[in-house]
Amino acid sequence: MIRIAIDGPGGAGKSSVAKAVSRKLGIIYVDTGALYRNIGLFMLDKGIDPKDASRVIPALEELSIELKFENGKQVILLNGRDRGDDIRTPEASMAASAVSAIPEVRNFLLDVQRNTAKKNSVVMDGRDIGTVILPNAEVKIFLTASAQTRAYRRYKELVARGEDVTLKQVYDDMVERDKNDSTRSVAPCVQAGDAVLLDNSKLTEEQTVDRILKIVKKKTKDTTPLYSFLKVIVAPIYRLLFNVHVQGKENIPSTGGVLLCPNHIAAVDVISVGVVSPRQITCIAKKELFAIPVLGGLIKALGAVKIDRGGADVGAIKTAIKAIEGGKTVVIFPQGHRCPGFNIASTPVRHGAGLIAYQAHCAIIPVCINVKNGKYGLFRRTDVIFGEPVMYNFTDGGRDEYEAATREVFDRIVEMGTKFKSLPDYDPALDKRMNKKRKKK
Ligand code: C5P
Repeated sequence: MIRIAIDGPGGAGKSSVAKAVSRKLGIIYVDTGALYRNIGLFMLDKGIDPKDASRVIPALEELSIELKFENGKQVILLNGRDRGDDIRTPEASMAASAVSAIPEVRNFLLDVQRNTAKKNSVVMDGRDIGTVILPNAEVKIFLTASAQTRAYRRYKELVARGEDVTLKQVYDDMVERDKNDSTRSVAPCVQAGDAVLLDNSKLTEEQTVDRILKIVKKKTKDTTPLYSFLKVIVAPIYRLLFNVHVQGKENIPSTGGVLLCPNHIAAVDVISVGVVSPRQITCIAKKELFAIPVLGGLIKALGAVKIDRGGADVGAIKTAIKAIEGGKTVVIFPQGHRCPGFNIASTPVRHGAGLIAYQAHCAIIPVCINVKNGKYGLFRRTDVIFGEPVMYNFTDGGRDEYEAATREVFDRIVEMGTKFKSLPDYDPALDKRMNKKRKKK
């Protein structure tokens, strides 16, 4: 799990930058300002002056607020109703700003923000995320820019929306709001002691996002020296011998826990993924794999976790969840054992991958492995394709949902694999024979 807090004054570009960072990392973006905007709008609708604490505070009792995510996108339900873009009007902004200065309102919104970050890896933006809401966030950024730059950005936005304003008016407002925000007695907008200060006055949005991703990477580096050695020395040799080609590396988030799910052709699949993965992988593998000469040593060095065949499922799943929560890139084969081909119509799919994604609140990256003629061989071409992250929309969990999530991942693998004509179809008779062989061993 990773929590990234981005705080800073208005006009610094927090929301667009935070959104882009969350997309790159495959985690959710929480716009906390939208919560204050919803409450502000509710007060306006009830005819309550948002500055009047004596009326706002009792009105909170009539309020229930729910923050959820549909396909990774934030939805706020206020008394069951989604107000959509109504919260973006200038009136709602003013009302949000007024209610946000009332301590009881801030308290009212504390749990909903903290609970979201407890259950998910998040990029959360606001004013007090690093100082009050998530004081233990792994990464804290205080994003700012000179008042002139921020005022000019805001001015351009307003003019584009057809508002009749002057740059001087916008600048004066901004300076006044900065003062109010940073000097208010409750949760003022200030830089947390351990936050990285990023002034983007002279940076484009893209450059700001890049800087943040670099900061995140530096703070969450998970590569061991042995892994780096193997990556530099052994990986190129393996890639040459097995003629490994890779696509879609950019789909692997550069940090934070994630689950990689490849189809499973042979024991060396884990090496094929490990040598091309941009991040160190943690593979959950049966103990028999560790006994194979060379391969056993290699997968161990690459960070594999040994599990007993007997308690395979429970052990593997628990280990995987823990590792992902610790920010690792875990590889698990959702088919459970080697399966020739992966025609989704008939390949049995286990529910483990979905269960892990649900429990660890992480994205699943489908990984398509194909070897020419369905069998690994020296200099025979091996393709590894990383697909786009799957963020399955779980409701209450349960076996059906876990299975559906795993199946969705397999659908993607099959989709990626259709271009390989050599890919054999799933063959139940062959699978049965292989199973017998495995049992004998
Ligand atoms: O970020 P946004 O402009 O949507 O925020 C609306 C208002 O909510 C701001 O004026 C700010 O004062 C308040 N706010 C806050 N704490 C947060 C997020 C927003 O006080 N974490």
